[in-house]
Amino acid sequence: MNKQRHLLVVSGPSGAGKDTVVRRMMEKYPEIEISVSATTRLPREGEKDGVDYYFLSVDAFEEKIQRGEMLEYVHYCDRYYGTPKSEVDRRLEVGTTVVLVIEVIGAANIKKMYPDCTLIFIMPPSLEELSRRLHGRGTESEEAIQKRLLRAKEEIEKKELYDFSVVNDDADRCAEEIYSILQKRLEE
Ligand code: 5GP
Repeated sequence: MNKQRHLLVVSGPSGAGKDTVVRRMMEKYPEIEISVSATTRLPREGEKDGVDYYFLSVDAFEEKIQRGEMLEYVHYCDRYYGTPKSEVDRRLEVGTTVVLVIEVIGAANIKKMYPDCTLIFIMPPSLEELSRRLHGRGTESEEAIQKRLLRAKEEIEKKELYDFSVVNDDADRCAEEIYSILQKRLEE
């Protein structure tokens, strides 16, 4: 069995609901583990350090880059985001399925390092719905929302880079679709 097949990378524009979809999938299939990313953005209300992200200062993040502890990282909307190596390698080594929820540049970099991983792009039902969800979340300024919407359009244009794309019209249905894609890949 190729261990890279256990690596699942999920991307999608901010507000497409990818975190909810992945959470539902993990609730139903607890054998799947999520990689906790590091970031220099501030925690949103309710977010916990070490659970949602490792919230780091810019200095601490740059130190990790320098020490070679980041598998990949990007500068996204003026913040650093990255996958610590420790979140992925030890799990793949023991054959645990690990999910990375990251943006497109990071996903492309992971695919270069792990060509047999599976890249899945989560689409919002429409751009109008995406805008509605971002506004409804109420966590970002209008300027930050506009930045995210612009970035979303750019990301959607890159969805051909992905092995599969799925529409998040319903989080549970979408979670099932992703799980069955993963199962098929593991059986190949
Ligand atoms: P948010 O600020 O909404 O939590 O995340 C912003 C974007 O950064 C999302 O598209 C999210 O998937 C992406 N992201 C989160 N963690 C990582 C990471 O470790 N690496 C990369 N490349 N992107 C990430």
